Amino acid sequence: MRIHCLGSGGYHPNERRHTACYYLPEQNLLLDAGTGAFRLADRLVSTELTIVLTHAHLDHICGLTFLLVPMLLGKLTSVEILAEQKTIDAVEKHLFDPAVFPMRPDFKMTPITAGDEIQLGEVTLSTSPLPLHPGGSLGVKLTSSNAKFAYITDTITSEDYIPFIQGANLLLHECYFPDEKAEWCEPSGHSHTTAVAKIAKAANVQQMRLIHVDPQCEDDDPVGIEVARKIFPRTVMVEDLDIFEV
Ligand SMILES: [Zn+2]
Ligand SMILES: [Zn+2]
Repeated sequence: MRIHCLGSGGYHPNERRHTACYYLPEQNLLLDAGTGAFRLADRLVSTELTIVLTHAHLDHICGLTFLLVPMLLGKLTSVEILAEQKTIDAVEKHLFDPAVFPMRPDFKMTPITAGDEIQLGEVTLSTSPLPLHPGGSLGVKLTSSNAKFAYITDTITSEDYIPFIQGANLLLHECYFPDEKAEWCEPSGHSHTTAVAKIAKAANVQQMRLIHVDPQCEDDDPVGIEVARKIFPRTVMVEDLDIFEV
């Protein structure tokens, strides 16, 4: 599996990072559609696309509107969105209210339930509930014959999803706050550095890359990465436009 990071930040874009969007060209798959989705059109390898939405917060869905023009130009002819029913309802009711966006792209919306397994070619997509984020979110895992990739965005860390990500070759995990701001995790539903590193260690993943960082910080190291590496040495930051193989 090859993963193009089109947006590695959380909440809002800054000069360094756009918001959540990851493209897997071999699977014609997009994970979340934050502001980074504007980068998709030039990278498409197929006119068919499947999009998995982890939840309906704006930093994960607003880029759906950026797909209208690629669809009108024929760069995309078939787009299916997989998401929980409550996420689909929120997107239809709010994002594609004509008062908010004038033209609903011709998406097919397919409801999924946390725990579902879906076959995408030779890859199995599975999901797990992340109920500690306000409104709930979905963890996503892609399993092929020789690789396991897990995507855990917006959540407070919890031992509950460790079995879901156990032994992944690559874990992308949100890390919105450095430890100094850990008290903000509870009210905002996000994670901090030490807690995330403990999850990676307990799940015995091969490598962890940190995403969905606080956009107020544009430094090389918004999370205090050495703190994480003391607990889980194979921790790496993600930057926009990184491409990684699993
Ligand atoms: Zn988010
Ligand atoms: Zn969120």
